[in-house]
Amino acid sequence: MASTAHNGRLIDRANGYGIIECELCGFIHTDPIPSKEELDKLYRDEYYKEEKPLYIERTIEDLRWWEAVYDDRYDFFEAHLPAGRRAILDVGCGPGYFLKRGLERRWMCLGIEPSRQASSHAISLGVEVLNTFLDGNLAREIGRKFDAIHLSEVLEHVPDPARILDAASGLLNEGGLICCVVPNDYSPVQKTLRGKLDYKPYWLAPPHHINYFSHASLSRLFKKTGFEVIGESSMFPIDFFLLMGDNYIGNDELGRASHLRRKRLDIMLDEPELKGFKRDMYGIMAKHGIGREAVIYGKKESK
Ligand SMILES: [Zn+2]
Repeated sequence: MASTAHNGRLIDRANGYGIIECELCGFIHTDPIPSKEELDKLYRDEYYKEEKPLYIERTIEDLRWWEAVYDDRYDFFEAHLPAGRRAILDVGCGPGYFLKRGLERRWMCLGIEPSRQASSHAISLGVEVLNTFLDGNLAREIGRKFDAIHLSEVLEHVPDPARILDAASGLLNEGGLICCVVPNDYSPVQKTLRGKLDYKPYWLAPPHHINYFSHASLSRLFKKTGFEVIGESSMFPIDFFLLMGDNYIGNDELGRASHLRRKRLDIMLDEPELKGFKRDMYGIMAKHGIGREAVIYGKKESK
């Protein structure tokens, strides 16, 4: 009989948590997994105030770049869905700019966001948002279905990512698409930084980050939860700056400077002469498990 307990090789420790390669789940996560009560409190009230006080401000500062990032995702959805199927749900919509972009592209949009600060900001942009968590009950209460679901920087925070993907699947129309974006951790770049340059595992952040995915482990989770992987991409491997000798870890000023350079590169790569290359480049990075974030597109398999 298959084991139903989380269990696997202990590979690190951080903030009082073990980090295990879980055989049950097929991806790396904390041991123990923080309780639902701890997490509810963390994300309803504290997260944007205490952990990410600059997040909304910086999203606005980076908006030109974010719009380019979001456009790539809407382009993918629009290329893979029939015309007229343009209803999207953004789970963990944060301050709402992804959906604002969707409204500008004439999508029907709904957001779900547990943080009070972030959801009020999204509502102030004219986006419809439910200030809560996604679970099976909410999925039943919403009472409508979507053609696409976007989960950016969500699955690393939740105690049971497979349940979230199941709930998402229940909210998708037949043939509906999903896009998940997660930090790409224990990547070949991070392993090199650790092995050759003595970096500590700076990417570990429990209890905020519970799960540590790669392109491969997230693709496995898609298959387990009934999604066919139909596209893989990456976000710029900002950790290349570490390989180049700019150690921005714990140095916010250098971190912002590195971020500014990658923003400029991404925006320039959007020019018509380079755009095809940009798409292929991020696709090839994904194949090699390179990129600070993994971006995976799936299609709900018919039952
Ligand atoms: Zn597990």
